[in-house]
Amino acid sequence: MAKVNRDYQKLPGSYLFSTIGKKVREYEAANPGKRVIRLGIGDVTQPLSPEIIKALHSAVDEMGDAKTFKGYAPDLGYEFLRKVISEKDYKARSCEIGPDEIFISDGAKCDCGNIQEIFSRDNVVAVCDPVYPVYVDSNVMAGRTGEYDPEKQRFNGVVYMPCTAETDFVPKLPEEVPDLIYLCFPNNPTGAVINKERLQEWVDYANMNGSVILYDSAYEAYISEPGIPHSIYECKGAENCSIEFRSFSKTAGFTGLRLGYTVVPRALKLEGVALHDLWARRHGTKYNGAPYIVQRAGEAVYSEKGRQEIEKQIGFYMENARLIYEGLKEAGYQVSGGVNAPYIWLRTPDDMTSWEFFDLLLNKANVVGTPGSGFGPGGEHYFRLTAFGNRENTVEAVERIKRI
Ligand SMILES: *Cc1c(COP(=O)(O)O)cnc(C)c1O
Repeated sequence: MAKVNRDYQKLPGSYLFSTIGKKVREYEAANPGKRVIRLGIGDVTQPLSPEIIKALHSAVDEMGDAKTFKGYAPDLGYEFLRKVISEKDYKARSCEIGPDEIFISDGAKCDCGNIQEIFSRDNVVAVCDPVYPVYVDSNVMAGRTGEYDPEKQRFNGVVYMPCTAETDFVPKLPEEVPDLIYLCFPNNPTGAVINKERLQEWVDYANMNGSVILYDSAYEAYISEPGIPHSIYECKGAENCSIEFRSFSKTAGFTGLRLGYTVVPRALKLEGVALHDLWARRHGTKYNGAPYIVQRAGEAVYSEKGRQEIEKQIGFYMENARLIYEGLKEAGYQVSGGVNAPYIWLRTPDDMTSWEFFDLLLNKANVVGTPGSGFGPGGEHYFRLTAFGNRENTVEAVERIKRI
């Protein structure tokens, strides 16, 4: 008889966004005249830029001509894209990452979720708290954790690294050494960044202890301050201990198109085994993750014109972030983030829980955000607002919050 994977049942379910949806629907049904503004979504809203659309059209035409038609993409992705990534994302920042160390995929979420498969089941995993839930969830499903403890709101067997205001929302090096360390900077949900010196400490720690860092830099394009690394490979020795994930989703509006990549350096070896060779055998995105058409669209992001258009788009979101940040600060909130990331992280007033503040914002300002506790127990008493709205709604939402 077939059996199910019981580890999947350890997950409490997608409580966060379904509860938000339910509360908003109920409020709207009870208050038909009210216009609710959503500043909680983690999805972009601006359309794809003209250079990207042009590249898509031309690649579509190629697919319709026998002379230029493309079937399965090469294993690692097309060389034209891997080459331009190696040049512009890495060599331009003095990181020696070659095209054959880059694996193109259909987005970072799958790669962040699947990467754990190349590691032994008995590895101990460490995550930032709060953080993007994918890292913990994928390890739960793989059986690398114990049961969920509803009281502590944590899975047993996982090292949660507190990211608090006292340390600028950057975790401290754990005393109990984990095997796999997930880091995400700029961070979702806190919007925090890590400077090069502190990231170097993590790289040294991992190299000294034989740990592997899984570095998610999906938001690197939002970094505006100097001295903040865009890639972990800006740190010395990172190629010996780090895997990096990147995505075109938030940086170029590809959430619906789907494109990302993962860097597994050739130098990264565990027990004499090159992780590059293991990831080359991965399932899922190997042959069909990112279509030729989409990889051509990705290439356009790196053209001079494409880059200018993308920068304008990011500038638009970051102006939203600035408006939210400044507005909340003026209103007396304790705010962070929003400078190197499209996320604003605020401390709830009067020690309200994240959900109490959610209800207050929905009822008094008709604004929807995301309770920080949904990103881990360390997010309790915090709240996330995102810069992905349109300008009019963002300005109006800030005005309404100020009036509470
Ligand atoms: C959105 C996001 C991703 C990537 O998403 P994809 O659309 O799958 O590329 C990765 N990491 C973080 C932290 C994100 O917020």
